[in-house]
Amino acid sequence: MIVAPKIRGFICTTAHPDGCAKHVAEQIAVVKNGGPISGGPKKVLVIGSSTGYGLSSRIAAAFGNGAATLGVFFEKPGDAEKSATAGWYNSAAFEKEAAAAGLYARSFNGDAFSDEMKAEVIAAIKADLGQVDCVIYSLASPRRTHPKTGGVFRSVLKPIGQSYTNKNLNTNTGVVDEVTIQPAEDDDVAQTVAVMGGEDWEMWLDALLAENLIAPGTQTFAYSYIGPELTWPIYKNGTIGKAKEDLERVQRVLDTKLAPLGGKAWVSVNKALVTQASSAIPVVPLYISLLYKVMKADGTHEDCIEQMDRLFRERYTDPQPDEVGRIRLDDWEMEARIQQPVIANWHKVTTENLLQLADIEGYQSSFLRLFGFGLEGVDYDSDQDIAMKVPSIG
Ligand code: NAD
Repeated sequence: MIVAPKIRGFICTTAHPDGCAKHVAEQIAVVKNGGPISGGPKKVLVIGSSTGYGLSSRIAAAFGNGAATLGVFFEKPGDAEKSATAGWYNSAAFEKEAAAAGLYARSFNGDAFSDEMKAEVIAAIKADLGQVDCVIYSLASPRRTHPKTGGVFRSVLKPIGQSYTNKNLNTNTGVVDEVTIQPAEDDDVAQTVAVMGGEDWEMWLDALLAENLIAPGTQTFAYSYIGPELTWPIYKNGTIGKAKEDLERVQRVLDTKLAPLGGKAWVSVNKALVTQASSAIPVVPLYISLLYKVMKADGTHEDCIEQMDRLFRERYTDPQPDEVGRIRLDDWEMEARIQQPVIANWHKVTTENLLQLADIEGYQSSFLRLFGFGLEGVDYDSDQDIAMKVPSIG
């Protein structure tokens, strides 16, 4: 079947197998170009490993550090009529590349929040690897079924206390207008914390520790974002920010639990980037397209793979924590020489001057690339095997 992009709001409902494979291959090349990574982990579990930051973490660990990887994700396989989700094709391509490089890779498709998934992964670690020495927690999910109570929680992106009005970009049409987001109500905060907070991260580590599957010196990472003040009402001080605060609470709890093994838990604050998760946040895509323009001109623009390469190559052995103990991969984004022009442009930007001030083309092409479209060297007129399997899943 020939696969073309079908964009619906902020998602693309199709994905291109060869294009996703090329996207994975390009990321592998970025890591290999930096040469081998030394001092990093050798047996890595990535929870949320199929797209965005999790996929890039898996690639950096495997192809930089030669690590065996286990990846957990929630993706839809394709069938005769409908293409799979991008993360499915990414994972298929990752496994093929890993096998060709002689690297162990095994993937699990299902609900990472469930006890069943944890049991499946634990059985695989026992059978294949003995222990893991790094756990990456990179889930972005709109809902969670609690494994103990069966309660279903929904994560929302809302300000707290009062409504928030700011500029917003329709990334499909290039129209800059205004959006007003009503404040969180009822138990929105608690629900968002239940989905995107740290409870499940802790449950994963507890389950692994209980089975003695955590090697001495293990490090575990969960990802967060802070960003500039203009986004704080919807991000840092909003419902999602409360969930990220909860990650920091759990990071301290996990530090205590890992200390007897000489292990360490980290929250890594990463750069704002186009991913399936970030494109759903109001206001943020306009900020990202203004940011890309300035950072590309500055020569410091990074994508998920460069960020995760930096995490494993530099910060794994030299974390350089901030004053509250977080790793800051958003350091370049937050430099005054980047933020000042971005914020100045934020106040000036309109539909009319969008092309001059913002990297809307970069935003749109990054978005399409997430689904395997617009990659160089891919024949988009060729017949695609949309029902392809992820080798370890079948
Ligand atoms: P993403 O949407 O690209 O990836 C989410 C991953 O989670 C995918 O692998 C998906 O399959 C998996 N997933 C979702 N629900 C699942 C479930 N129930 N069970 C198993 N797997 C599930 O998102 P991303 O942007 O890479 O976000 C990853 C983390 O990075 C999040 O914590 C996010 O807040 C953080 N972060 C993102 C940005 C950004 O700008 N994108 C910046 C800083 C931090």
